[in-house]
Amino acid sequence: MRLALLPALALAGCSAVPPPVRLSSDAVIDAAEQAPEDGFVKENGWNEPMAPFTVIGNVHYVGTKTVSAWLITDPKGHILIDGVVPQSAPQIIGNIKALGFDPRAVKYLLNSHAHIDHAGGLAGLQRATGAIMLASAADKPFLEAGDIGHGPSAGAKFPPIRVDRIVQDGDVVRVGATTLTAVMLPGHSPGCTSWTMRAKGADGVERSIFFHCSATVAGQSLDPEAYPGIVANFRQSLARAKTLKADIFLANHENFFDLHEKRARQLAGDANAFVDPGELGRFTATMTEAYAKTLAEQQAAH
Ligand SMILES: [Zn+2]
Repeated sequence: MRLALLPALALAGCSAVPPPVRLSSDAVIDAAEQAPEDGFVKENGWNEPMAPFTVIGNVHYVGTKTVSAWLITDPKGHILIDGVVPQSAPQIIGNIKALGFDPRAVKYLLNSHAHIDHAGGLAGLQRATGAIMLASAADKPFLEAGDIGHGPSAGAKFPPIRVDRIVQDGDVVRVGATTLTAVMLPGHSPGCTSWTMRAKGADGVERSIFFHCSATVAGQSLDPEAYPGIVANFRQSLARAKTLKADIFLANHENFFDLHEKRARQLAGDANAFVDPGELGRFTATMTEAYAKTLAEQQAAH
């Protein structure tokens, strides 16, 4: 085991990829990490701590009690999806260490979408890991501005992070033997990005995993459009989501995928507590219904 760590350490030391250019100074990141929890952050418990754990194989939960962050590990380096709120970055780093992994071995940061509750901690996480930021072209301007700029989250500022490389639909992020594939499902944000991968559980069975970006309207205006194309985006993404399949459905807010109920079952001995091949389909059906209802209500209000 000790020998297996050597290539990873060597790779981290001599990586050919230049270090990322930071948009946020230490002072900006420090202030955001130490800012008092108020508004949505406090009301929704977005920064409440949760003990990290392994979902299956090399997929680990390192988020807070209500908002997800995912660590996907490989002997050659790790991938981290989402940063929760700015105050959460130190907690996420602590969670990575608590699971026995080195934060400096995180090679790539990914983001489901550029709302403060998923992108807020990214700049702090980049400072702590030195990782390269990958994101969709459509959400890049918001990540680099530190503000989504439309909808109820407009003006909820977070430390900006530069997008080092653009991710398009079908792009594969590879570290060692681990690959994640991007699935663009715009709607909730213009560049909402889901990810898929496969992992092997303790039972030796390989399963497909889906990290869902989100499909909620979340108080955004569909009529008039919160951003140009939001209605077409939702319609196309919900239709596409219907065609997708996954053995394990993971999402970025605990209530989307019954995180705590499943974790309790896992702790009670059910190693496959997170396996449910029907869940993505049920979630999409629920989201499709909610979207249609919201659109009809907003149109009727005119
Ligand atoms: Zn959101």
